[in-house]
Amino acid sequence: MDQVVLNHVTKRFTTKTLGDIVAVDDFNLSVHEGECFSFLGPSGCGKSTTLRMIAGFEDLSEGTIELCGREVSSKSKNLYIPPEERGLGMVFQSFAVWPHMNVFENVAFPLQIQKMNKTDIAQRVKEAMRHTSLTGLENVYPSDLSGGQQQRIALARAIVTQPKVMLLDEPLSNLDPKLRETMRFEIKELQRKFNFTIIFVTHDQSEAMAISDRMMVCDMGRIMQIDTPENLYNKPNSRFVHSFLGESTFINVVIQDGKVYPKGDTQNPLRLEIPPDAAREMVVATRPNSIDLVGPSEEGYPTHIEKRIFLTDRTEYLVPVGEQMLKIQVPHRISFAKGDACRIRFISPMWYPAEDDAAEKERQRRQLV
Ligand code: ATP
Repeated sequence: MDQVVLNHVTKRFTTKTLGDIVAVDDFNLSVHEGECFSFLGPSGCGKSTTLRMIAGFEDLSEGTIELCGREVSSKSKNLYIPPEERGLGMVFQSFAVWPHMNVFENVAFPLQIQKMNKTDIAQRVKEAMRHTSLTGLENVYPSDLSGGQQQRIALARAIVTQPKVMLLDEPLSNLDPKLRETMRFEIKELQRKFNFTIIFVTHDQSEAMAISDRMMVCDMGRIMQIDTPENLYNKPNSRFVHSFLGESTFINVVIQDGKVYPKGDTQNPLRLEIPPDAAREMVVATRPNSIDLVGPSEEGYPTHIEKRIFLTDRTEYLVPVGEQMLKIQVPHRISFAKGDACRIRFISPMWYPAEDDAAEKERQRRQLV
């Protein structure tokens, strides 16, 4: 069964400085049982607002939300179930542990609210602490613990109620990179043990890719694509998704007399198959590691090495293509020196319409609201 279902969910805000803004525009999505589903996108794209509506901290402007088969928010029915009755576990960016309570009291708190009896609370807290490696720290106060341990308290407090759905909003962003990786693994382990559904909000694309079964990439309040991490990387449906996941290189091209010329070069075409619906000006997208770099006697677009950068596991070259500079990354065994003539060939490039800068301006405006 789908555990979290959003139907036509929209949220509008009226802001003092920039007037009306559609923070979440007609979101439709279903998160399956036991799935780890991430919301990913630049600042201001609507991730947190969506999570807050699911949690019940924010009302909807339109649409409905269902959790575990039960409607919890519906604008048309004027239905709104408060957060504490939605049966969700939540962990947020700021650890939100209570400094005046020791670890046991922090973890036990949600069960005390539910008025569970003391023996059951002790048993549940013991279990939750064992699963989050906090055993033995029952009487310690959070201020005496590390950031990682504090975040474990927040996790233990979220799992102690045995929720079916867990909402995690940038839960690892206050931790150092090594600890982030450990905690990421621990979250996945907990999910495997308890089989809860996770909705994970993050800015960090590699974190999202590592943890998610599926991800939703949003931009400016709209869902751009929902898919597995692999498909989003290999088959992005837009220039935006292409550029948001992994490293991208874009070449602006002009199509003339059935040939594809990089902007600024009307002599040497790129040998590319033109898609049937291509306009005169297009963008060819690729990844720096999906370009063949070969010697000047081989086939390909003729250019030269402008810059060579030695990276730990590969070498990066910058080569001019028309008026643009293309980044290429190849294994160390392929070696060229600065100034060498070379040729390049694209391996399975993708095509997108040329984008004006209006979208980028709107993106920046939203981050300022
Ligand atoms: P971040 O990654 O920075 O947290 P986000 O993707 O979570 O960003 P939201 O916080 O959901 O984005 O915000 C989406 C848009 O709605 C932004 O333009 C934001 O400024 C606006 N917004 C969010 N909350 C409010 C509010 N309470 N009043 C007015 N505007 C708001």
